[in-house]
Amino acid sequence: MTVTLHQGDLPAGLSLGAMVAIDTETMGLRPGRDRLCLVQLSAGDGDAHLVQFAATAAPPYEAPRLAALLADPAVLKLFHFARFDLAVLAHYLGVSVRPVYCTKIASKLVRTFTDRHGLKDLCRDLLRVDLAKEQQSSDWGAATLAPEQLAYAAADVLHLHALKVRLDAMLAREGRTAWAAAAFEFLPTRAALDRGGYQDIDIFEH
Ligand code: MN
Repeated sequence: MTVTLHQGDLPAGLSLGAMVAIDTETMGLRPGRDRLCLVQLSAGDGDAHLVQFAATAAPPYEAPRLAALLADPAVLKLFHFARFDLAVLAHYLGVSVRPVYCTKIASKLVRTFTDRHGLKDLCRDLLRVDLAKEQQSSDWGAATLAPEQLAYAAADVLHLHALKVRLDAMLAREGRTAWAAAAFEFLPTRAALDRGGYQDIDIFEH
């Protein structure tokens, strides 16, 4: 596994293929208040690329190569709980991320025998991989990230391709592939509603 740290944008000429796992680390859970510090990417080959943003950057961040990848209709972006990452990426990079696959939504559609749909749960149950989560609430705004933070951040994108394979098989088995596709298609709108003030409201509810 190689973890490469980039400053401010992806390097020119880097190709991550047609399916890229993506995660973000922020200063907190409120996109308007808590800045985007790190975007992690993996082509599913065991390597991770991390893009770090300086505290002085103001949204929208100037990261044209990363933004182009996120908006590229030919590249499927894999997330775990895409709803949050999409809102953050829209706010800080000014992009509507498409097309999207979310392992958490896929899990909720097929793993109806459990209410445990966290990334750590999926990695343990579907891949027999133990994901350490100790760095989850660390200071991602630090100018110099610790080796443990970099390893943690990378781990969040290294297993999404393998999870998608397992979850796609379960979706097919249970006849819910079309529901998953429709839910993924709606995700950019769900993120836009969150940003528009509907973050605590389920518009489908009575
Ligand atoms: Mn993460």
